[in-house]
Amino acid sequence: MTDERLVKIRKLVIPVMRILNLINSEEEEKLNEIPLGLIRKNATRMHAVCRFKPGPKGYSKSINDVKEVALHPEALNDEWLHYAKFLMFHEYLHAIGNIRHDSVFRELESLWPDENAKKSGKEFGRFLRNKSARWLWTCPKCNKQHPRTRKSNGRYLCRKCKVTLVDSSVGQTHHTR
Ligand SMILES: [Zn+2]
Ligand SMILES: [Zn+2]
Repeated sequence: MTDERLVKIRKLVIPVMRILNLINSEEEEKLNEIPLGLIRKNATRMHAVCRFKPGPKGYSKSINDVKEVALHPEALNDEWLHYAKFLMFHEYLHAIGNIRHDSVFRELESLWPDENAKKSGKEFGRFLRNKSARWLWTCPKCNKQHPRTRKSNGRYLCRKCKVTLVDSSVGQTHHTR
């Protein structure tokens, strides 16, 4: 079953692509048919993906070869919805045949009308790392903290102070679901 929220986002994104003249009615129909899914919940680097069906090496992929567009489940929560729309837009640009992140792709991507959403990638990444953190690497001098899934075990220095970072367990202060 497709997550209702994904369907809602699709209904918001595709009309914008029509208005921007990025797709014709045939492509609109095909985008509407692409299965929508979720990537794994504990991913922190990948925020969304456009998956293609396997084909011969080097063949040019088209909208007919798209298997799925998937978003990070955390992006579907209300506070990240603006970013989720931009993520789907980005993956749909891949789906209509812009495979690489080249200058043409970046140009098309920049057409998305929500400036805030276009800049949310870093913040969303930080949010995901914070959520999955089990350890805090803390600088004993400047107290800067880095949330991480692993212990640092004395292997890392504070970039500013050049002092070894100290591990502490996130433990009870961390809210898990
Ligand atoms: Zn991409
Ligand atoms: Zn420091």
